[in-house]
Amino acid sequence: MPLNVIVLGPPGAGKGTQAERLAATFGVPKISTGDILREAVHAGTDIGRQAAEIMSAGQLVGDELMIEIVRERLSRADVARGFVLDGFPRTVTQAVALDEMLDGRGEVTVLHITVPEDEIVRRLTTRRICEACGATADPGVAPVAPCARCGGALVQRRDDGEVVIRQRLQVFDRETRPLVAHYRQRPRFFTVDGHTAPSEVAGRIRALIESGASAAVATRSGGA
Ligand code: AMP
Repeated sequence: MPLNVIVLGPPGAGKGTQAERLAATFGVPKISTGDILREAVHAGTDIGRQAAEIMSAGQLVGDELMIEIVRERLSRADVARGFVLDGFPRTVTQAVALDEMLDGRGEVTVLHITVPEDEIVRRLTTRRICEACGATADPGVAPVAPCARCGGALVQRRDDGEVVIRQRLQVFDRETRPLVAHYRQRPRFFTVDGHTAPSEVAGRIRALIESGASAAVATRSGGA
């Protein structure tokens, strides 16, 4: 049974951190549309050129392009055992397209991570990422420290200034929050309080995923 997970939540909720841990724990790829776009911007591809300005304004890249990016990514062999999606879907149009793409691919777990807005702004204004490999630095490290993964320089993300953060939160409320209603009735929709230590959040998520795995096994073997 593949492990298909969608991580939903506002910017700064810890989606990327949790998606990465979950993907590593269960040996499936993490698919982050933000990372894919930042790599395209960095490489100066066509997609990168289209996305750069939209991203630094805190707006959403068009649905059609995003859906094609994810459709292509989900067609690769490494997702046969599942995936953890971080940052997609972000609109109802994307969610409907994803439902179609995942039809027949096994059950989907949706993790909705919540964090109060003040904490989001605090996290994002202090967040640093590696200029070279894109990894997010641990919140406690000094901004001048080198990246723990590759030794690259830590920088602020271009869209992590306070004005753009407020913009991204508005876009989240308008475009992405309706996805909670889209997914809420699904059997494997879970809301997770993200306002605690990342390792604690990860532990709770892991327990939810594993409870689902054993429930699925019980169902297959005829149990309750
Ligand atoms: P993230 O790293 O997930 O915060 O994404 C950074 C930025 O990339 C967002 O603010 C959007 O401009 C763009 N982006 C990432 N994923 C999507 C998506 N699914 N739909 C539209 N825009 C996206």
